[in-house]
Amino acid sequence: MGEQWAFYFDANKCIGCHACSVSCKQRHDRDSDQDEWRTVRNVESGEFPDVSSMPISMSCMHCSDAPCEKVCPCNSIEKREEDGIVTVDRDSCIGCHYCAWACPYGAPTYDDGGIMSKCNMCLGEGPGGGHDMPPREEQEDGGSTPACVDNCVGDAIKAGPVSELKAEASKEALERFASEPANVIVEADRDDDEAGAVTYEV
Ligand code: SF4
Ligand code: SF4
Ligand code: SF4
Repeated sequence: MGEQWAFYFDANKCIGCHACSVSCKQRHDRDSDQDEWRTVRNVESGEFPDVSSMPISMSCMHCSDAPCEKVCPCNSIEKREEDGIVTVDRDSCIGCHYCAWACPYGAPTYDDGGIMSKCNMCLGEGPGGGHDMPPREEQEDGGSTPACVDNCVGDAIKAGPVSELKAEASKEALERFASEPANVIVEADRDDDEAGAVTYEV
């Protein structure tokens, strides 16, 4: 298998503007009222009046050991050999929702007659595109990075081969990444950080 691609998310830089989720809908021509391939939610903590809120931007994480792929009775979900991106073939999907029950992150959505669609790391255009779609666009065709990354106002999301993302992450984020099955590197909360423990390996 080629090198796994992943997302990196730094909540310290996210300002909760939703530009990532809106640009995802625009790029893939999604219904603004129906489904959310990328969502931005506010996670609140503390007790009044000492409360804080942190925006979290999430999509399909293209899991290393994707549970959605394992339960699909039609083999419509594929974890690609070359980059680990999880795609869905909408032509063979029967809309049974097994993948939704298996996914711990609520990533699959059902639209267009109940057929599954979700983030495909911007492999191609169109609903649920990805399976057997052409490779990412070349730089001269508008760039190879996903729409959410391109349009993130706070520079909070990145996508790419895991080794490249790891080179930008803090040690704390890398430790969390190593201990969790999810395929996203989440940057450490710098407010909780003690004495500058966040270091970069650039
Ligand atoms: S996040 Fe959900 S839909 Fe995406 S690969 Fe993992 S299990 Fe499948
Ligand atoms: S990578 Fe593309 S499809 Fe996935 S959430 Fe970002 S914009 Fe949407
Ligand atoms: S575009 Fe960037 S800063 Fe804005 S909500 Fe999305 S992740 Fe946060």
